[in-house]
Amino acid sequence: MKEKYYVFVLSLFNCLFCNVFGLPDVIRIGGLFDSGDARDEAAFKYAVERVNGQRNVLPKNRLAVQFERLPWGDSFFASERVCQLLRVGVAGIFGPQSSETSGHIQSVCDALEVPHLEMRWRTNQNRDAFALNLYPAPDTFAKAYAALLKAKEWKSMAILYDDVEGLTKLHLLLKGRSFSDTKFVIYQLVEDNNFRPLLRQIQRGGEKNILIDCSVERLEILLKQVQQIGMMTSEYSYVLTTLDLHTINLEDYQYGGTNITALRLVDPTKPESASLVSDWVQSEQRYGRRINNSDMTITTRMAMIYDGVVLFAKALHELDRSQDVNIRPLSCDSADTSTFGNSLANYMRLVEMEGLTGVIKFDTRGVRSYTVFDIVELTEDGLNKVGNWEPYLGINLTRRFIPLEEVKSEGLRNKTMIVTTILSPPYAMLKESPEQLIGNDRFEGMAIDVIDEVSKLLGFNYTYRIVEDNAWGNRNKETGQWNGMIKEILDGATDMAIGDLSINFEREEAVDFTMPWMNTGISILYKKPQKAPPSLFSFMSPFSLSVWIWMSIAYVGVSVVLYMIARLSPYEWYNPYPCIEDPDVLENQFNLLNSMWFTLGSLMQQGSDIAPKAVSTRMVGGIWWFFTLIMISSYTANLAAFLTVERMVSPINSAEDLVKQTKIKYGGVLTGSTVAFFRDSKIPTYKKMYESMSAAKPSAFVNSNPEGVERVQNSNGLYAFLMESSSIEFQIERKCDLTQIGGQLDFKGYGIALKPGSPYRSIMNEAILKLQETNRLLILKNRWWKEKRGGGRCKDEASGSGAASELALANVGGVFLVLVCGMSVGAIVAVLESLFKIWRNCSNDKTIDFKQELKEEMKFVLKCAGNTKPVRRRMNDTDSKKYYRASSSTIDRI
Ligand code: GLU
Repeated sequence: MKEKYYVFVLSLFNCLFCNVFGLPDVIRIGGLFDSGDARDEAAFKYAVERVNGQRNVLPKNRLAVQFERLPWGDSFFASERVCQLLRVGVAGIFGPQSSETSGHIQSVCDALEVPHLEMRWRTNQNRDAFALNLYPAPDTFAKAYAALLKAKEWKSMAILYDDVEGLTKLHLLLKGRSFSDTKFVIYQLVEDNNFRPLLRQIQRGGEKNILIDCSVERLEILLKQVQQIGMMTSEYSYVLTTLDLHTINLEDYQYGGTNITALRLVDPTKPESASLVSDWVQSEQRYGRRINNSDMTITTRMAMIYDGVVLFAKALHELDRSQDVNIRPLSCDSADTSTFGNSLANYMRLVEMEGLTGVIKFDTRGVRSYTVFDIVELTEDGLNKVGNWEPYLGINLTRRFIPLEEVKSEGLRNKTMIVTTILSPPYAMLKESPEQLIGNDRFEGMAIDVIDEVSKLLGFNYTYRIVEDNAWGNRNKETGQWNGMIKEILDGATDMAIGDLSINFEREEAVDFTMPWMNTGISILYKKPQKAPPSLFSFMSPFSLSVWIWMSIAYVGVSVVLYMIARLSPYEWYNPYPCIEDPDVLENQFNLLNSMWFTLGSLMQQGSDIAPKAVSTRMVGGIWWFFTLIMISSYTANLAAFLTVERMVSPINSAEDLVKQTKIKYGGVLTGSTVAFFRDSKIPTYKKMYESMSAAKPSAFVNSNPEGVERVQNSNGLYAFLMESSSIEFQIERKCDLTQIGGQLDFKGYGIALKPGSPYRSIMNEAILKLQETNRLLILKNRWWKEKRGGGRCKDEASGSGAASELALANVGGVFLVLVCGMSVGAIVAVLESLFKIWRNCSNDKTIDFKQELKEEMKFVLKCAGNTKPVRRRMNDTDSKKYYRASSSTIDRI
């Protein structure tokens, strides 16, 4: 009751005051804002100010704003606030945004016959007499997007949507027959804003066309993750259903060549739009409030609020011409309705005007019946209008969307590319010339020649730039930021990068590489080994220790075998007194000492006065002479090599040697892939190497290859530089005090880096293959490594440095084998000789028992004692004159 009274007094006062002083009537309009975006309220206020400032819009009245802030989706609170506004007396209500709250407000407005203006997507368009929606009608919106997708000629796409509203939008969009041949997969965006797994799934599936429907806030996060995953490349194409793409900072994506297209209603560059925002910015700054750069652009909702206020004012003016407008306060509790609400709503539906959101025209349901959309596309210059869509006329493009295949076949012909390189010999160097050189002429080197050859094949022009931070490109593990040439590519500052730029996994994830134009791998650059001091026992060097040991074994073995064979063979036993025809004992010259003397004499190439007589012993002797011949000649030859070649010793021979010691420091180029390889390696040796490099004081890292090379030269063997083998090769051709230690620790190549998803990768690959097949790359390498800039200086020294190596058992094992075989044959022959002699004796004298004779003979041989052998006599009972000489005797039976 009290409230009613208050409202009545207020309106009476307003009426009287204005009439008495001849001032325009103040007509209030109410705003309900629940989006939390201060720009909406600002747009509302500034729109009213503008309308009041332009007397032709509303000459007789003045508008005043009365607005309330609401929590999102709180219908109860909203109902209370709208009643409060109506009690004050408002001619119309603007907002809110949330669909639940807006529904409640709508019913209150319907009941009290107050016009209600909305600016939101509404799937079910109202049939309420008092509602008008400035947001484009769903079917108009769907038709515009469907036409855009058609123009894109997508055969398939992935669709990402946010919520149910998005799904209905997409349903409307895709329900037509135009998409019956298009394959699409629909994904819902997860709530926690981690879209990476979903994006990876799409990436793995190979889909390159993506339609996204989500709020601008989530879109900003999504686009960032799209870039992180590596899907912000020119192979991908995105259509976004947001009308506010221009409010997002797209600078990070505009150079990657990704096709991002969307529709928009408001042109942020229009003076009216810009001044609306600048008014707001100025007032905010006056109050000392900070504004983000991204907030300095007009949003579609701001423009719709502005247009709504102007529309309202125009309708009010029309109404005012036919009758006196007097807005009464209303109560939600009474059945009283607004006197002018119905007429005002009808007038609004009849107004046709050009607003910030284009042509504004409503149908009888209060739905925008005619909307023109701008088509915008992200290019290197930012978001640009490339056409528009109009109902009845459809899509009108100022340029055709170029399919990816066309971009590829058009190639690089007549294009001018920016090529970044890094000064690193011999890949890119400053040309030495007495004249002042300019432009590309300033540089020379292998990489410079490669680009030159590739450009000739593909017909493009290029200009060089030197990388600003003198780095190849590494990613900071904490910030995720790249530096060097890779950063310049990602920032769009350059089109391609070449130099000794290694292809590795991390870089390949960020940019695109061509196939390698040179192969390389990490190795160690170190001071050449020093001459070894002369050794007292260098005469031992030709043979390895094992050969010496085996030779000693062979010497003893052969002597013993010779001794045994000589005992066994009957032909080595002779009559010591030739004048005595019938000796009692026989003698053998091969006692153990003589056997050893005989073998030693021949081993030393001196011979001895002992000569074998039996076939078996001669066989053993012969084979031993053969053995000594080979061994002595090998020894002599190798000794000569050892004496002429100076022995070099290096304290390190491999990466493992480096880890084991602490005296020699080692490092690499800080910003290069070599150090990154050790940093990221899981192999314990390399991990330890990285730890030792990073702990070294003063720092073991350098800024460039020449700096590392100089450090090795000046550190007197206390610094080893981890460098790529191709660069080492170049250095040791010119700096004769340096050498490469060990082989390669990894295998990689240098490639040309291109923008991620570059359509030119395949044609560049073809050009590199051509250069490879025609041997151009080899010729260029020889030119830069061996000929130019002092190449070939250390060639002679390098060829003379072949060190002699001791002969191991593997080198002379065959001679040992022959010796063993020879001795075995000798032993067999000796046995045969002995058996033959016994057999002959037995066959001459039948009284001799073969077995008995053999047993006695063997007993004597195996006893290994004595150099004399008694002649065994056997008297025949019947013929005492006959006697036998010992069976082993050389003297035949008489
Ligand atoms: N080629 C290396 C790179 O691409 C630079 C030199 C190095 O690290 O050894 O990063």
